[in-house]
Amino acid sequence: MNKINVTVWNEYGDEQKEKSVADIYPNGLHVTIAGFLNKDGGINAKTALFFEPEHGLTDAVLDNTDVLIWWGHRYHDNLDDRIASRVVERVRRGMGIIFLHSAHKSKPFMLLLGTSGSLSWREAHERSRVWTCSPSHPIAKGVPEQFALDCEEMYGEPFGIPAPLQTVFISWFQGGNVFRSGVTFQRDNGRIFYFQPGHETYPSYHNEHVQRVITNAVKWANPIVKAVSLDCPNVQPLEKI
Ligand code: ZN
Repeated sequence: MNKINVTVWNEYGDEQKEKSVADIYPNGLHVTIAGFLNKDGGINAKTALFFEPEHGLTDAVLDNTDVLIWWGHRYHDNLDDRIASRVVERVRRGMGIIFLHSAHKSKPFMLLLGTSGSLSWREAHERSRVWTCSPSHPIAKGVPEQFALDCEEMYGEPFGIPAPLQTVFISWFQGGNVFRSGVTFQRDNGRIFYFQPGHETYPSYHNEHVQRVITNAVKWANPIVKAVSLDCPNVQPLEKI
């Protein structure tokens, strides 16, 4: 069986500048994410970074990517529009994409969903509880009914997204807010999953349940077809008219 080729894309800025982040993700959170994905025998995960040529997302890299994972926050506006368009086109043709945490304001997220990605937020070292509201969804396989994260950044409703295909998780925060924290979409052939946990100063990507969700999401988003193009061909009739 062919393995699912995953590219974990990260800005990799905070880990190199902020000790509080480097203490949790000494080699960058992309290495942590690729590391737990590669423990699954069906996944081959590599990494790509903002500061690499073409943001690490060359055509050659994307040719070998079935599912792209996106983590960014500081450099959303600095992403080259041509690379954002390239990612969107790949998703439409069939590449899966998983947006993590602050990727709700990334160019590819907003372009694919056509909405603002707006939300409310608070960084107050508060507990979060992630509730599984679609237990039969493949992304929830093996995930408990609910699990707690001792510290997470609060993301709260209203969340500026279109109505999801399915809301797989909803998160509660200690300060009283709630958030649709795990939602699925499809654009043309491409499957899209957004998942909220993962603020850079908290160890959420070391949590076994968060790891299970992301691993499941990779398998769910693995393309069924990858179209060569999405043109509108003028075609000849199949029968005599
Ligand atoms: Zn954050």
